[in-house]
Amino acid sequence: MITFNQIKKLPKIELHRHLDGAVQPKLIFDLAQKNKIDLPVSNLKELKKYYQITKQTSAAEFVQKFDLVISLMQTPENLQTIAYEQVLNLKKENILYAELRFAPHYHDQKGLTYIQVIKNVLLGFRKGYQKTGVLTNLIICLVREAKPELGEKVVKAALEFKNDQGPVRVVAIDLACDEANYPPERHLSAYKLTFNSYLKRTAHAGEFGQQRLKNIKTVINVLRADRLGHAIPLVTDQELMDLVKKKNIGIEFNPLSNLICHNIETINDLQIDKYFHQGIRFSINSDDPAMMFTSLSDNLDQVCQAYSWGLKELKIITLNTIDISFASTLEKKNLKQTFLKKWPRN
Ligand SMILES: [Zn+2]
Repeated sequence: MITFNQIKKLPKIELHRHLDGAVQPKLIFDLAQKNKIDLPVSNLKELKKYYQITKQTSAAEFVQKFDLVISLMQTPENLQTIAYEQVLNLKKENILYAELRFAPHYHDQKGLTYIQVIKNVLLGFRKGYQKTGVLTNLIICLVREAKPELGEKVVKAALEFKNDQGPVRVVAIDLACDEANYPPERHLSAYKLTFNSYLKRTAHAGEFGQQRLKNIKTVINVLRADRLGHAIPLVTDQELMDLVKKKNIGIEFNPLSNLICHNIETINDLQIDKYFHQGIRFSINSDDPAMMFTSLSDNLDQVCQAYSWGLKELKIITLNTIDISFASTLEKKNLKQTFLKKWPRN
């Protein structure tokens, strides 16, 4: 078995982390003061308590907390600061490469265009990359409950970054938010815009609601997803598991997020070991680490405990995570080299 402290020190990769769910309370507090935004609390200690999502948090409370962060992500300066600080946090967590995601749709409250919003987040990531060497690429989320035309508008903005292909760039689109009430096919027109484009596709599917398995099928067959976020009931359908393997679709697991949101009762419910033994590639992720007061290491630790895994399995999982990432072929090769150099020799 491996200890939490050992996991913390290991080189890691993360593919499913929401930028707006990863802003640490300290930064929220500082930015709110700087921007004269009223907080529902008077000090950092209280903010930490207010901000944390637990198993007891109601949907309405979740929206309140989320709105607070979003209200701070409306200016070029703040978007850059939040993106930059995120990269510093990744470095502290020993994450070598990450794919961060967010929905530009939420960040036009002060008149920024989607293109300006994306540009400023990329600027923050690039500054972070120069400082730390931690590479981050960006996934653009479509909001499920938004009108399909709005989804198309967001994708068109993302497609404008086609020629912006340095390290730190837009790599894919995602579909996020209210899965229970808005089926994935609602945004087919937006997804279609990315077919035969430079953008890859992932989607949250199989996380919430009564149609989880159906949504996974739609996302694979209709939206042509390259990866799936969550996919909780996928393991119950062997035919679909076989299809996922045949199509080389990567799975983005978010174990602690699923536990906190009551989507599973224990991490064993995800049956991640079945994917491992069937050779289906997956990543382990933190989803909204700051809001959930978790980290990638916490998630990996819990997975190792659930399946009695250690260094051997984590090495395979991380190499597979690099394979299913949306990094370029050259970036993947370099990442693997760096990763293996930093991996402990036993
Ligand atoms: Zn997510």
